[in-house]
Amino acid sequence: MEKQFDIVVIGAGPGGYVAAIRAAQLGYRTAIVEKYSTLGGTCTNVGCIPSKALLDSTEHFYEASEKFKTHGIELDNLRINFDQLMKRKNDVVKQNTSGLSFLMKKNKIEVIEGKASFLNNTSIKVSGNGGDWNVRSNYFIIATGSKPSGIPGVEIDKTRIITSTEALSLETLPKDMIIIGGGVIGVEMASIYARVGTKVTIVEYANDLLPTMDHDLGKELKKLFLKRGISVLLNHKVQSATNEGNSVHLKYLDENNEQKEMVSEYCLVAVGRKPYTEGLGLENTNIKLDERGRIKTNQLLQTNDSNIYAIGDVVAGPMLAHKAEEEGAFVAETINGQKPHIHYHLIPGVVYTWPEIASVGYTEEQLQKENKSYNTGKFPFIASGRARAAMEPEGFVKVLSDPKYGEILGVHVIGPRAADLITQAVIGMYYETTAEDMFRMSYAHPTYSEAMKEAYLIASGQGAINL
Ligand code: FAD
Ligand code: NAD
Repeated sequence: MEKQFDIVVIGAGPGGYVAAIRAAQLGYRTAIVEKYSTLGGTCTNVGCIPSKALLDSTEHFYEASEKFKTHGIELDNLRINFDQLMKRKNDVVKQNTSGLSFLMKKNKIEVIEGKASFLNNTSIKVSGNGGDWNVRSNYFIIATGSKPSGIPGVEIDKTRIITSTEALSLETLPKDMIIIGGGVIGVEMASIYARVGTKVTIVEYANDLLPTMDHDLGKELKKLFLKRGISVLLNHKVQSATNEGNSVHLKYLDENNEQKEMVSEYCLVAVGRKPYTEGLGLENTNIKLDERGRIKTNQLLQTNDSNIYAIGDVVAGPMLAHKAEEEGAFVAETINGQKPHIHYHLIPGVVYTWPEIASVGYTEEQLQKENKSYNTGKFPFIASGRARAAMEPEGFVKVLSDPKYGEILGVHVIGPRAADLITQAVIGMYYETTAEDMFRMSYAHPTYSEAMKEAYLIASGQGAINL
């Protein structure tokens, strides 16, 4: 059976579905191939969406148990219905995947279910329940995403030694959980389970949580985690984890290189993700991988076969849904002869702990490494009237700016609604504004965003009003 298209996208995650929609909008006969029966990829099915659904539910529970009384709201017999928690999460995922199916129909994109494998640079074989298809196309866009990485000595068996995928669908609330890796997945999953009573221990190799972000953020988060009863073991090296039936036995070297052991009901491995190209038949093309298994592309995201592009987690750059989405639109527009641009330096990173964490631009460590001088403006949320009214005094805004011209170099926020606050910093940096431009605008009072204004004021040298 044969099919022919202008553009075929392989993989229906945020990179793939945005590429397909943009291609269809531009008038191309477009198909999207997905090996699973639902669209949306990692992000929608086992990543961003289900994790945020559980983060929201569990934060509500935490608020109700820890803060409501102070607000004057008395609740009796507050408890978690774990089945309902997971059911709501599943419903949210379903709403999102169904929404994507609707968008494919609306944009007249043919969805082909099955696993794609290149036969050569102009055709793929798609093997699925509906049989095998030979699909020809002028252009292909590879958006096959990523899978969890592992570490030596730790075999992920998906029952006791699990990845984020299993952790998002546990059937009962665990008594305790070890999390290997204090990166983004580690701290988000720690938040979810600790809020509902699981005793969580994070074992992290580096000397800070979230070691790739500005270090002040990880330091502040550690303090907040300790207050919330999460154990954080930094500079610790895992040696092995073994499934003992009803528990996991972990062996590790502590910060003094002494061997220690720990037992827990589950061990979540969250040590990064790796590009996924298995079974894609790249050997039948000229496509090359780099030393980390990512598909090599040029600046137009074109592979060694000029009609095949690659985007999202399977290529270099941050493994983020919005980065994949930008690249999806970029490639469709590039094929169309347009000259789009992605400002990679200004892709924000957000961590959905509470308080949230969000960053854009240079970290202080990067500026120091590059010997660049900078001004720092740091404003704590405890000095914000809005934060005090909301009982959200934790965290700060940190602005790094150029001492000579005032240009904003980086903004790092840990605090209430940081995920949404960061957008104004992205806009400011996109237009190369100065810290002074940013504080001269009027900010509504009382809002969390006033903390941003105060940090810009301090970075510009004028000094804060409310500190
Ligand atoms: P994916 O979403 O991985 O999609 C790839 C798709 O390709 C999959 O559906 C796969 O089945 C399909 N596929 C692979 N090979 C083939 C083949 N040969 N044939 C057919 N189909 C194939 N990012 C954020 O920005 N914000 C968040 O809050 C966030 N939270 C996350 C939480 C978790 C727990 C995880 C694991 C990730 C999270 N991410 C988040 C990262 C985000 O999910 C990824 O960056 C994003 O999904 C990458 O999109 P993609 O389109 O490149 O690939
Ligand atoms: P990560 O790279 O964020 O963190 C991995 C952590 O594991 C690092 O801190 C690293 O030092 C640590 N580590 C590595 N080897 C170790 C070892 N042997 N022992 C102990 N610690 C070790 O990766 P992740 O948390 O697995 O997330 C994977 C990807 O998914 C990330 O690239 C992230 O961007 C994406 N993601 C994004 C979001 C979001 O945007 N909110 C949420 C979840 C996941």
